[in-house]
Amino acid sequence: MVGIGALYIGYEARKSEIEFLSRKSSGIWELFFKEGNMKVKIDKESCMGDRNCNDLCPEVFQYDEDELVSHILVDEVPKHLEDVVRQAAAECAGDAIIIEE
Ligand code: SF4
Repeated sequence: MVGIGALYIGYEARKSEIEFLSRKSSGIWELFFKEGNMKVKIDKESCMGDRNCNDLCPEVFQYDEDELVSHILVDEVPKHLEDVVRQAAAECAGDAIIIEE
């Protein structure tokens, strides 16, 4: 059985590595799961239905085969998808993607 003193010495020896991994895992958690403050809408009247936004970011944009326009799938854009949503808005042929930050 390992004594508490041995555990403490082991912790001290690897303290910086443990703290680094703790910070790193917290950062990864935020990167993939934290929702950002960005909201996005589509002006259906302006959407030309070319599906570019769906091709770029299917996690946020979905094409509706009945209405022939795209829809938004999320209330808030996850942080790690904000840049690709900005790209979709910049490339949107109908200027139909409206970003609120
Ligand atoms: S990129 Fe713009 S025009 Fe094309 S489907 Fe998406 S919202 Fe509509």
